[in-house]
This record gives sequence, structure tokens and C-alpha cells, in this order.
Amino acid sequence: MVVVGSGKSKSKLLELARKNCANWDNGKCIGCMMKTEDKVIIFRISGRFANKPCQVNKKCEYFENVVINGT
Ligand code: SF4
Repeated sequence: MVVVGSGKSKSKLLELARKNCANWDNGKCIGCMMKTEDKVIIFRISGRFANKPCQVNKKCEYFENVVINGT
């Protein structure tokens, strides 16, 4: 299990994102975020992340809630 902010360097986090994140697109983020509410999965495109370089080290909730829980 990976705990974000537990001393992992940015390059290590980027490597984990590159290997495991479905939003990773050649170093950029697709920005498709998801969450569940009342047993419904909700998808949205995040303007904060979409089409920008991966920001895994800047409190990316998708990485923290989905990616690392699946590794
Ligand atoms: S910013 Fe987050 S969701 Fe986007 S590619 Fe990086 S780890 Fe994945």
C-alpha cells in the first residue's frame, strides 16, 4: 500500500501514476474523476487536472482514492 505524502518522492509517485492510473496519457492527465454517491458512480471531467501534466503530488483525489487502493 502506498501512502501519499509518506516520503515518496515526486518521481516515485509519477512512476506509480504512469503504471497504474487510467487517467495517465503520456504524462498528461485525462482528468476523468469518479466518486460514488448512494451506490451511484459519478464521473466528471476536472478542469483542474484535464489536459495538464500529471499532478499526482498535489493532492490528486483520484490517485489517493482509486489508484492506490487498487494496487
Ligand atoms: S493527476 Fe491524478 S488522475 Fe491525473 S494522471 Fe496524475 S495521478 Fe492520474
